[in-house]
Amino acid sequence: MSDPMEFTDYLQNPGFDVPDDLRGQLTITTLDRIYNWGRRSSVWPLMFGLACCGIEMICTAASRYDLARFGMEIMRPSPRQSDLMIVSGTVTKKMIPQIVRLYNQMPEPKYVMAMGACASGGGPFKEGYNVVSGVDKFVPVDVYVPGCPPTPQALLNGLIKLQEKIDRQSIRRTRWYSPGAAEPIPIPILGPDLLDPRDFPKLKANLTAQTQPEEAAVAVAEAQAGEEDPGPDA
Ligand code: SF4
Repeated sequence: MSDPMEFTDYLQNPGFDVPDDLRGQLTITTLDRIYNWGRRSSVWPLMFGLACCGIEMICTAASRYDLARFGMEIMRPSPRQSDLMIVSGTVTKKMIPQIVRLYNQMPEPKYVMAMGACASGGGPFKEGYNVVSGVDKFVPVDVYVPGCPPTPQALLNGLIKLQEKIDRQSIRRTRWYSPGAAEPIPIPILGPDLLDPRDFPKLKANLTAQTQPEEAAVAVAEAQAGEEDPGPDA
């Protein structure tokens, strides 16, 4: 439809009857597109920064780069009013329980961006005694922004990628309208080291194997026997 007149004709005659008094005032679109357009144009980030990357995030919100162009300038101090968690900085083991708690408190639909090398994979502190090797070990990350630190332009590019991701979502398949979807993530426990409650069954099995090897061997043998025996209904 390279001819502008042809395009105008298409708008006026979209393939079904439009009453004369509505011609030129009616726009046809899909529910997905209008739903995603509303969400992608008002993504409110949660306001917190963890380290040096946080300074770049603050610059991005200032006048020179102007997040308001994307409808994202309203950084909220409460997770309950936020759509996007920008994890900007080094994620320490001491901080990750708070990050997971904040993530759980955000309402759906919610998104996570790992800003910088530290949040994405530990960065220069990877495998340090006090640092988590990537926030995605605990919360689902939607967009990674590389750099140490990423520039404001890189963060803006990541935000545009998030908008593109939102554009591709469909209201029929979103997890927040699926039954039983919004299970909170178990909050890690900081003791002598960080413990993830999701690893407890594995940790318990390892502990049993070390402290009670005979009982562990019996349990393994029983489990193997159960797998081999197909049962009376087979
Ligand atoms: S990625 Fe670099 S700039 Fe960002 S928090 Fe880590 S060390 Fe600082």
